[in-house]
Amino acid sequence: MAADLAVLNRPLEEALPHDGRLLGALGRLKIRRVMDLLNHFPRSYNQRAGIAELEAGMHASICGEVVTAANKATKNRRMKITEVIVSDGTGSITAVFFNQPWLTGKLQPGLRVRMSGPVDYAYHQWTMRPSSFELNAAPEEAGLEAEYPLTEGLDNRDLAHTVAGVLSHAAAVPDPLPAELAAQLRLMPIEQAYRHAHQPQDRRMLDAALLALKYREFFMMQVGLRLRRRSEAADTDMVLKVTGELQARVLKYFPFAFTGAQRRVCGEIEQDLQRPGRMHRLLQGDVGSGKTAVALYTALLFLDNGYQCAVLAPTEVLARQHFNNFRAYLRGSKVRVELLTGGLRKNSRDALCADLADGRIHIVVGTHALLEDYVKFKRLGLCVFDEQHKFGVNQRATLRAKGNRPHLLAMSATPIPRTLSMTLYGAMDVSLLDELPPGRTPVITEWVHRAAERRAYEKIRAELKDGGRAYFVYPLVEASEALELKSATEYAETLKNEHFPECRVGVVHGQMDAEEKDRVMERFRKGALDILAATVVVEVGVDVPEANVMVIENAERFGLAQLHQLRGRVGRGKRQSYLYLFGEPRTDEAIRRLRVICETTDGFKIAEEDLRMRGFGDFAGTRQSGLPRLHAGDFERDLDILARARRDAARWAEKVDEALLRECLALHYGRAYRLLDV
Ligand code: ADP
Ligand code: MG
Repeated sequence: MAADLAVLNRPLEEALPHDGRLLGALGRLKIRRVMDLLNHFPRSYNQRAGIAELEAGMHASICGEVVTAANKATKNRRMKITEVIVSDGTGSITAVFFNQPWLTGKLQPGLRVRMSGPVDYAYHQWTMRPSSFELNAAPEEAGLEAEYPLTEGLDNRDLAHTVAGVLSHAAAVPDPLPAELAAQLRLMPIEQAYRHAHQPQDRRMLDAALLALKYREFFMMQVGLRLRRRSEAADTDMVLKVTGELQARVLKYFPFAFTGAQRRVCGEIEQDLQRPGRMHRLLQGDVGSGKTAVALYTALLFLDNGYQCAVLAPTEVLARQHFNNFRAYLRGSKVRVELLTGGLRKNSRDALCADLADGRIHIVVGTHALLEDYVKFKRLGLCVFDEQHKFGVNQRATLRAKGNRPHLLAMSATPIPRTLSMTLYGAMDVSLLDELPPGRTPVITEWVHRAAERRAYEKIRAELKDGGRAYFVYPLVEASEALELKSATEYAETLKNEHFPECRVGVVHGQMDAEEKDRVMERFRKGALDILAATVVVEVGVDVPEANVMVIENAERFGLAQLHQLRGRVGRGKRQSYLYLFGEPRTDEAIRRLRVICETTDGFKIAEEDLRMRGFGDFAGTRQSGLPRLHAGDFERDLDILARARRDAARWAEKVDEALLRECLALHYGRAYRLLDV
C-alpha cells in the first residue's frame, strides 16, 4: 500500500522524462505529482464525427480540408470575425472565430485540419465555434476526444500524451469506499474509471466512469467532514446549565419579545450547549432578522455559567455598534462589556487586556485586533463571528485557539441557497432565522430611468421634509485615493447644491479613518444629518432605524447580493422605506439584476438567482467553506450525486477505514485537505 502511494506521490520531475518546458506548463496548472496528473480531468469531450453525422448542440471534433478562410466585416468595428469553411467529403461546415484575423494566414485552403467545439445548425448550414484546432491532423477513428484545461505552452495533444504515460499508475489509487458499499452501488472500479475518463471509448462508459469518480470524491469529503466534527465534538467538556429561570432572566434584558424564529434558533443553540461537545453553528438570517440579539442571548448563557465571550465584527463601525447596543441592553447589570479595536491607544489596550486575562471583562467586542497574540482570556467559552464570510478559516481557528476550545457561533446575512448550505457547510450545523421582527414594512424598490430622476428627487425631498433620512450610495469608479476623496466631496456638494439645499449632508468614504467615519455615522444616527453620502458601501450591518430612503447611483455596477445587503440598511423602522436604483444598465445581465431586486425582497430567492447568474465558483462563501477544490465533481452540476454521497456517508461512516480515508484525502488534495482539520 505505502509503496503504491509513493508512486502516486512521485514528483513529475522524476516520473517523466525531463522536459523543462512541459514541467513548467504543468506546474502552472498546479500539476506536480503523478496523482495530480491523473486528477487533471478533461473539461469536455468531443464526439469525433463526419459532418454528415453531426447533431445540433453536440460537442464535436471534425477532420477535413480547408476550402476558404476569410475575414468578414462587421458593424461593430471592434469585433472581427473569421469564417473558415471546412469540408470532409460528407459535408461542409463553417467555423467561426472571433478577433483572430491572423488565422486566415494560417488556415490556408487545401490544408488538413481538425476542429473541436460545439456545433449548431441554422439556415441549412452547419457552424462551429471551435475551442481548439490542429493543423495537418491525421484522421482518427470514431469515438470521443478528450479536451483538457490547458495553459500557455501546452497543447491538448501533448497533455493527452503525458496523461497516457502515467495512466497505468491509476491501479495504485486506493478506494475509500467500504467494499460492501462499492459492490452495492456497482460503481465502476477506480482504475477503470480513470482510464475511461481520460481515454473514453463511448458515452456510456464515460458516463459510468465520471459517476464513479465524482461519487467517490463527494463521499470522501463528506466522511472527512464527519470525522472532523466527531473529533471536534469530543474535545470539549464545557457543558452549560440552562434553566428556565436563566432563560427568563436573560430575555428580560431585551426591549422586545423574540420572534418565533429567534426563539427556535435559541433553542437549537441551547441543545448544542447542554450536551458534551463543541458547538459549531452557522446562524443564517436575512439582513435585519435579528441575529445580534440571538448572539447576545447566547453570550449571556455563557456568562451565567462563568465563561467569557468574544464577539468579532469585520469593521470598527460595526464592532462599535454592537458594543453600544450591548451596553444599552445591559445597562444596570453587572455584566462588563468592552470594545477592543486596532485604533486603541497602547495604555488603554494594555489595561483592557489585563482585565480580559483576569476575567474581569465578561464580553469583549472587537475587530481583527482580537486575534492578536497579546489578547488572552481567562475562561473563553464562546466566539461569535458576525458577518462570518468576511473572515477566513484561519482567522476563525486563531481565535478559537485562545480559549479552552470555545464554542463557535458564526453569523451570516449572505444567504446561501437552501440546496447548498447543507453541503457547503458540511462541517457546521445551520440555523435559519427566516422571520423578520414585526412592524417592518417591505422596502418599495424602484428602478429610476434618467428621465424620471427629477420626480424621484422630489419624492425624496418630501420624505426628508417629513423627518425621514436618506443614504446616497455611489460606486467607486477609480481606485485612486485622491480621486475617491475628490469624487466623494463633489458628490456630496452636488447633492446639497442641486437637489437638497435645505438639508444637512454628510459624507463617508474609504479614505477616512474609522474614528472619522464613526463620528459622521453617529451624527446621521442621531439625526444631525439628513443625508449620508457614501462612496464606501454603507458598512455591513449598520443600524439606523430612522433611515428610510436609499439611492444607489450606477446601480448596474453592483452585484445582486450587494444590492440586497445595501437595501437591508433601510426598512428597519416603522416608516415606509424606499430604494431608488439609478442607472442605465447596458448588458442583459445587469438589467436582469435590477429586475430581480425590484421584484423580490426574499434574500433566499435573490441568492438563488445570484447563484444561477454567476455560477458556484464565484459564490460568496465558497472559500470560507474550507473545502478543497474538487477534481472530478462540480458542486453546481452534480448536486444529486453529492446529495446521494452525503446520505451514504452518514449511513456508512462507521464502516469506513479511517486511516485509509485520511490517506486518500492527503493523496488527492495534498495540503489543501488539512483545512478539514481546522
Ligand atoms: P441582523 O444582524 O440580523 O441584520 P440586527 O440584529 O441588527 O439584524 O437587528 C435589526 C434590528 O431589529 C435591530 O434594531 C434590533 O434591535 C431589532 N430587533 C431584533 N430582534 C427583534 C425583535 N424580536 N423584535 C423587534 N425588534 C428586533
Ligand atoms: Mg448584523
